[in-house]
Amino acid sequence: MLNQGIGSWPARRARKTPHRVAVVHEDRTWTYRELHERVVRLAHALRTLGVARGDRVAYLGPNHPAFLETLFATGALGAVFVPLNTRLPAPELAYNLADSGSTVLVHGPEQAPAARAAADEAGTRHRIALAGPEEAEALGYEELLAGAGTGPLDERVAPEDPCMIMYTSGTTGRPKGAVLSHANITWNSVNVLVDTELSGDEVTLVVAPLFHTAGLNMTCLPTLLKGGRVVLLGSFDAERVLDVIEELRVTYMFAVPTMYDAMAARPRFASADLSSLRTLNCGGAPVPGRTIAAYLDRGLAFSQGYGMTEASPGILFLDREQASAKAGSAGVPHFFTDTRVVLGDGSDAAAGDPGEILVHGPHVMTGYWERPDDTAAALTEDGWLHTGDVARLDAEGYAYIVDRVKDMFVSGGENVYPAEVEAALLTHPDIAECAVVGVPDPVWGEVGRAVVVLKPGAHADEANILGRLHGRLAKYKIPKSLTVTADLPRTASGKIIKPAVRERYATDAAERTRP
Ligand code: ATP
Ligand code: MG
Repeated sequence: MLNQGIGSWPARRARKTPHRVAVVHEDRTWTYRELHERVVRLAHALRTLGVARGDRVAYLGPNHPAFLETLFATGALGAVFVPLNTRLPAPELAYNLADSGSTVLVHGPEQAPAARAAADEAGTRHRIALAGPEEAEALGYEELLAGAGTGPLDERVAPEDPCMIMYTSGTTGRPKGAVLSHANITWNSVNVLVDTELSGDEVTLVVAPLFHTAGLNMTCLPTLLKGGRVVLLGSFDAERVLDVIEELRVTYMFAVPTMYDAMAARPRFASADLSSLRTLNCGGAPVPGRTIAAYLDRGLAFSQGYGMTEASPGILFLDREQASAKAGSAGVPHFFTDTRVVLGDGSDAAAGDPGEILVHGPHVMTGYWERPDDTAAALTEDGWLHTGDVARLDAEGYAYIVDRVKDMFVSGGENVYPAEVEAALLTHPDIAECAVVGVPDPVWGEVGRAVVVLKPGAHADEANILGRLHGRLAKYKIPKSLTVTADLPRTASGKIIKPAVRERYATDAAERTRP
């Protein structure tokens, strides 16, 4: 095979394990041979539409086999796959389409209106629609496959060639397109396979959106590389996830903390048959201690990871053996990954001291798409990636993620990391969710402001909640005001959008302090 990229994986799997099930979705299954055959057809269809090596092909839709087929078919042609976030409104999608210069957009039926508007605005040449209402301007996905060629594709693809442009979550600003090569993604999968028990018998449940790096690269792709089966759920529903785990005897899953919390909150959680689960993996955002405890108490192996889109994404991993002993830590670097924790002057921080965590490894992106300045700011000349996250290491080298550099604020000359304050707030039995932000203060420069969502029926007030923090946190870390709200702004992957919280509540706080 001339193709050494991930576009060749279905063909390689079809050679080795043609009859094993690769993908399960709703009531259907596809073997590796079937997946391979569909990928070849789609690649021919895309080639007929003019897609050639280096061109960009976008996908906007649910977790569905077509996502994987589009990824692999694009890779089979040496073209670049661009997964798009289904929660973005049309103008932002148009920005992503134009920014990536995608010439083809494959989309789901529910995304049709946004896809149409965005593709028109961005001047995207072709739209391919998954089954749904007939549309004159869009090509039908299944019709294209049915009419496409089946011969070998014979495209030469090197591991260093770009495989996808994956946009970051947009938690701290406008999403940036990280260019990930085939080698980047392959090495991330190798790291996962070395550091977990993931096997060819795995039944992996994919509930996190595939357009985010963790859903795709931490679960789905390593499983397909190894020849296991992936179960795709179109959207997250806690009750349905518990059903599927029982019905399909799921062995491995990744989800973000909010998803695990929603599952643990179901009355059924205590009695559901979860005996098939070998590994639960969590990450993508700080993992509250109570989330870990809920699963460990249930006798389940719960591992934590830390990563970012730019690192394809796995950086740190806390395996199941250490899950209790090192609870709260995001673990040690993956096998082929190296990290440093550095101070502002670039020197290594001493054990226990916070500093920015830098990453090096074969899975670190080649750069941001057409953003040389951002790339130069993120990557050093010898390939260390600035994560923008603060961490501290313990004496044994286990890392604790403290917070984002950007979310830290300074109160009376002291650095406050809101994540630490949020973790303390979450130990309050009445608090469901919370965010702490720094707001301007005439005396201290900045002070903390807590924004909390209470559990249904809970009535705790400001004095009670903040009062409980005395003795637990240094005085300068304790928020000076608190707002109860119905919900917090979150990204599609469930992360709290701090800039939006700051924007919304900083003014409110300023008004309050006015005489
Ligand atoms: P943007 O870069 O657009 O602002 P983002 O950083 O949220 O968005 P992602 O690449 O999806 O985009 O997320 C990576 C970030 O998520 C990390 O930099 C870190 O801040 C956070 N994160 C991931 N895993 C963990 C974890 N286990 N603990 C704490 N934070 C985590
Ligand atoms: Mg980021």
